[in-house]
Amino acid sequence: MASKKTSTDTRFPTPKKLTNHGPARIIAMCNQKGGVGKTTTAVNMAAALADYGRKVLAIDFDPQGALSTHLGVLAVPGEIPTVYDLLKGTIKDPHEVIRQSPIKNLDLMPANIDLSAAEIELVNEVARESILANILRKVSNEYDVIIIDCQPSLGLLTVNALTAAHGVLIPMAPDFFALRGVAILEGIIKKVQARLNETLVLDGVLATMYDSRTHHSREVMDMLRDKFGDQVFKSVIARTVKFPDATRVAEPITSYAPTSEAAESYRTVARELISRGGAP
Ligand code: ADP
Ligand code: MG
Repeated sequence: MASKKTSTDTRFPTPKKLTNHGPARIIAMCNQKGGVGKTTTAVNMAAALADYGRKVLAIDFDPQGALSTHLGVLAVPGEIPTVYDLLKGTIKDPHEVIRQSPIKNLDLMPANIDLSAAEIELVNEVARESILANILRKVSNEYDVIIIDCQPSLGLLTVNALTAAHGVLIPMAPDFFALRGVAILEGIIKKVQARLNETLVLDGVLATMYDSRTHHSREVMDMLRDKFGDQVFKSVIARTVKFPDATRVAEPITSYAPTSEAAESYRTVARELISRGGAP
């Protein structure tokens, strides 16, 4: 049932330790709506996978820089190298941009407001949709999972993320407008599959900010399951102030409140992803 709690979910086994690392499976967190939990999912899924011994690279691909901030990096323009420098080609080696996060096994490729210019500046580049894919090829062997936190739009940056990715994960907040615009997102995914990245798959739809007490949340979950079937994650993320709190102290929930239900819910989603083959 939709209202079932996930806090002691044992359906997904503790993942096996990896003995060697790479090449990475690349996952794009994508939904053109803002405020649906993309960044929260990117940070906490990345941290949960890192806790399970996976080597993880989280890429901030939103000019708002929320993922960077969330992992303790204030990417002030001009002060530190960012993914924008790689897209523009002013820095060629991704290692010059990648930084360690405070979490073991989790690295970060930061972004800041400079990235907002890329959408326009890259329009006339050759193979403009594959720029990120080519950058990630240089570091893919060093990671097990690369998670790209997309901006809330379906422009060239998001198309770059979808072209670089093996899978796309769609976080959705269960309100009645959750499905509005999904057809457009699906259309973009289909176009990318047809023209740029034929192996791209939908890794799943994740319900975030779920409130099991409301009829409304349960109804929307039923709508999601009607539409996406098994592609909806069985685990859901409950609505709790723990997430904004963790953002405020710039830490993943798994380190800020490791024993909380909120932390366990992202560990469960990470295990579910692994058990579905969405991550090693
Ligand atoms: P997006 O990246 O899609 O814009 P965010 O992950 O930044 O969305 O989330 C938007 C806001 O909602 C943030 O303030 C975040 O802390 C909060 N939030 C995210 N997930 C939850 C949740 N499960 N419960 C309560 N608040 C949440
Ligand atoms: Mg975001």
